[in-house]
Amino acid sequence: WSSTTTAVVTGANRGIGFEIARQLASHGLTVVLTSRDTNAGEEAANVLQEGGLNVVFHQLDIVDPLSVNSFAGWIQETFGGLDILVNNAGINFNFGADNSVEFAEKVIETNYYGTKRVIKAMIPLMRPSAFGARIINVSSRLGRLNGRRNRIGNIELRQQLEDVDSLSEELIDGTMNTFIKQVKDGTWESGGWPQVFTDYSLSKLAVNAYTRLLTRFLLDRPDCEKICISCCCPGWVKTAMTAWAGHTSPEDGADTAVWLALLPDLSVGGKFFAERREINF
Ligand code: NDP
Repeated sequence: WSSTTTAVVTGANRGIGFEIARQLASHGLTVVLTSRDTNAGEEAANVLQEGGLNVVFHQLDIVDPLSVNSFAGWIQETFGGLDILVNNAGINFNFGADNSVEFAEKVIETNYYGTKRVIKAMIPLMRPSAFGARIINVSSRLGRLNGRRNRIGNIELRQQLEDVDSLSEELIDGTMNTFIKQVKDGTWESGGWPQVFTDYSLSKLAVNAYTRLLTRFLLDRPDCEKICISCCCPGWVKTAMTAWAGHTSPEDGADTAVWLALLPDLSVGGKFFAERREINF
């Protein structure tokens, strides 16, 4: 890897994203550290720059189409494209046993639709590479389709989401819309949705499904134009998101995403990883 390899990390002003940016830059890459808040992002980038790392800041709010478009234009102008995209930005409002869906729409808008918006804007800018340009989605085990305690109760829907041939963007968006509609009309509790951190789990389930869907198109391109997209779960990490209650450090939480970003191996495409091992979607 060299400084001509450009990696973009979303939500990198703190937590796992900051660590992913630091570790990628430590491998000699140019890292674009993005943050929705300019002050927080510039401060975080300064810390890494002062450590001698090749890090550049740019504002990016993944829920704001104008911000995403303007970021894409800047990447094109400044670097002519990118090699690695790490979709790390995310939100969660549930702690402990709380399963409120008060912020469900915002959670799904950020974690799923925001991630999708960034992916769509970046794909045309991803540079050809023998090992495949990389997209890594920082997801969660909570979004697994067949989690023991946390799965979708509607078997037909679960099977449709599981079968990559019946998977479509309409199906994933439709599933999210049905849930949001039920939240709004107060019927979501009888909807058979995941029982733990329902809105957050569904948002990550959607990210996972979208990853599997995209794999069909991105790995089916001619050699050198392939894009290798995969998901990872960082574990339960001590960050603001868990109120620092996790048992993994942000450094270790970042490890699998960085490993996936740098692995010269297309076989990780379309798969889900935790602690550098493949796990079931
Ligand atoms: P943090 O809350 O520490 O960091 C989240 C980051 O996402 C922050 O930089 C935040 O910015 C940013 N963000 C939120 N909304 C947006 C937005 N609209 N546009 C751009 N950036 C945004 O959490 P973590 O570091 O723990 O989480 C990182 C990722 O890891 C998330 O996707 C999370 O779901 C996932 N994850 C975390 C786990 C954990 O145990 N911590 C477990 C499983 C998955 P700001 O500072 O402005 O709020």
